[in-house]
Amino acid sequence: MNVGILITGSEFATGSKQDTNSSIFAKIAFERGLDVAFIHICKDIEEEIEKSVQFALEMCDILIVSGGLGPTFDDVTRQALSKAFNEKLIYDEAWLKYLENEYSLRNVEFTNARKNMALRLLNSKPITNDYGKALGFIYEKNHKVTIVLPGIPQEAKSMLIKAFNELGYTKKIREISLFRTFGLKESDVSSLVKDFGNTFINVSALGVDVYAKESTSASKIEAVLGKYIYAHDESEMEEIVGKLLRQKQLTIATAESSTGGLIVSRIVNVAGSSDYCLGGIVSYSNQAKMNILGVKEQTLKSFGAVSEQTAKEMLLGAKRLFGADIVLADTGIAGPGGGTSEKPVGLHYIGIMVKDNISIYKEIYQAQRNYTRLYISQFALNLVRL
Ligand code: ATP
Ligand code: MG
Repeated sequence: MNVGILITGSEFATGSKQDTNSSIFAKIAFERGLDVAFIHICKDIEEEIEKSVQFALEMCDILIVSGGLGPTFDDVTRQALSKAFNEKLIYDEAWLKYLENEYSLRNVEFTNARKNMALRLLNSKPITNDYGKALGFIYEKNHKVTIVLPGIPQEAKSMLIKAFNELGYTKKIREISLFRTFGLKESDVSSLVKDFGNTFINVSALGVDVYAKESTSASKIEAVLGKYIYAHDESEMEEIVGKLLRQKQLTIATAESSTGGLIVSRIVNVAGSSDYCLGGIVSYSNQAKMNILGVKEQTLKSFGAVSEQTAKEMLLGAKRLFGADIVLADTGIAGPGGGTSEKPVGLHYIGIMVKDNISIYKEIYQAQRNYTRLYISQFALNLVRL
């Protein structure tokens, strides 16, 4: 069964807001064994919705339409569907009573616009809304099923599940496995997993995420990606690191330059991090590196702020200040300016000190400034895991 998704809303068609319903719908459909063939976005214009519905139904068996069921002037989805199917709109008597009661309880006038939220196509099945006022419905014509949902994500999600249950797609029969990796390039990951079929990859500053459709390939993916995998779900690196520190009863502190506190800020994102995070120093200037962390003036003069030696002295300074079991440090050129031929934009030295052992890593990563800073923070946090 092929599913199509039609998102209505001028805010999405103009790029003013990100559509989140389609990915929620696609995940629910996939888990229930249905394949999403396409996602289509159109403006809140009656004729455009009408045309989009007709066009979409040619390419799918089940069409999910969301948005535009509310009481405002731009809510025209019902009228558009009525035209697209050449079918009358009727009031759902039960829902009309429910709404009437709801509004009278709150002393709010039950206007015609509000009554319209109980309209559905003749011969459709209602889908009640547990979180809002707009009624949804399922309509079938010429062996094609259309599921009509409001736009508000929480409402739409729960109503789609109701609609699928109604249509007999009641159980989760498959799931997508996720492997979040850090430390490999996209091309390396891609060639490692290419033979396992049914995988797709998402790349960001946080690493390469591999999604696998078939549960049979999960063990193979696990074997080839091995230690590069840091999570098997949506967990962030700081959560993984937090768990590890808690398990091993270790404390952590940071001394940061180009990341500007991002590493410690991410560690603190995790609730309960006060149990293991002792703090961080943002030593952006040379003065701060010297006065707070005790980096030697001579080191900065001879090797520069972005150097292995400076990173090492930053680690030692933070260790003295915090006495943490693990210390992370970073110094680098986030860009876009500030690079030289010897020290290009993107050059970073990232250090970790575990008890008394110091390791410094040189990494050159060239991207948009804050993307680079995020990548470097991920690189540093990942060192704790290894
Ligand atoms: P309402 O009763 O609130 O008018 P509605 O069914 O008419 O509900 P819309 O008017 O299309 O829905 O959208 C209501 C709210 O939900 C808006 O803030 C809108 O941006 C948001 N929303 C609608 N569709 C989506 C979507 N696809 N992804 C994320 N948010 C959405
Ligand atoms: Mg609306």
